[in-house]
Amino acid sequence: MKQFLPVLLALLIFAGCKPEPKNANPNLSESEHLVMATDWFQKSAEMRACYYQTFTLAKYKLTEKQNAYKGGKPTAVVLDIDETVLDNSPFEVHLINTGQLYSGKLWQDWTRKGTAKALPGAVNFTHYAKSLGVEVIYISNRKTNELEITLENLKSEGFPNADSNFVFLRPKDKSGDKTERRNFVNINYDVLLYIGDNLTDFSQIYGDRGADLGFSLVDSTKNLFGEDYIILPNPMYGEWEGALYGNDYSLSAEQKRNLRKQLLDGY
Ligand SMILES: [Mg+2]
Repeated sequence: MKQFLPVLLALLIFAGCKPEPKNANPNLSESEHLVMATDWFQKSAEMRACYYQTFTLAKYKLTEKQNAYKGGKPTAVVLDIDETVLDNSPFEVHLINTGQLYSGKLWQDWTRKGTAKALPGAVNFTHYAKSLGVEVIYISNRKTNELEITLENLKSEGFPNADSNFVFLRPKDKSGDKTERRNFVNINYDVLLYIGDNLTDFSQIYGDRGADLGFSLVDSTKNLFGEDYIILPNPMYGEWEGALYGNDYSLSAEQKRNLRKQLLDGY
């Protein structure tokens, strides 16, 4: 045994000196960055408070606008669906647990279940709007092949107007630009309020955020927020994230990770 000791030691030292693998922690999921955001969304009472607070503000605004309305058309409120009225955070958890990044296929594997839960305050708000005589309309970038299950999901969670006359999804050959669908709704309704978690739920002017990530765009339209536009918090995903990557989702996970850090302002 004694004569093998130097060889054994040499082997141990060699094993200890092997180069670091590319991903220093092999257990670190590519979706690790979603953990804190998803914790906040699912497990902070502040998130619930934010949703209740936002829908309360929306009720005040809607009541005020409906009472002041002098036009001749029926009025409506337009809501986005995902992370506005339905909670898809279990999908983010699936990405975290399986170390995967978003893909359309994975997303539809989730939506096909039809089990997304209503977000706090959303069901109550939509019924309130109906009670005021304001129509409830949903414009979402879920694809049209998800319509049936989306209607079922909305219905099972107690939302009104879970009906193809009031739910406008993204046609297969179209981009996520909601302008055309908003214009279509505006033919028959005066929309008093738009509610969403992403700026383009309100207007496509926010589609190109430019070098300052959309800050000047939002600043120049600040009077619309809380008035015509009601925004909800989504720290898990959104066009805000794409803007960090210059909208180039083909970047590697490492490049994206680096950009997320490099763009932060420290001291
Ligand atoms: Mg959304």
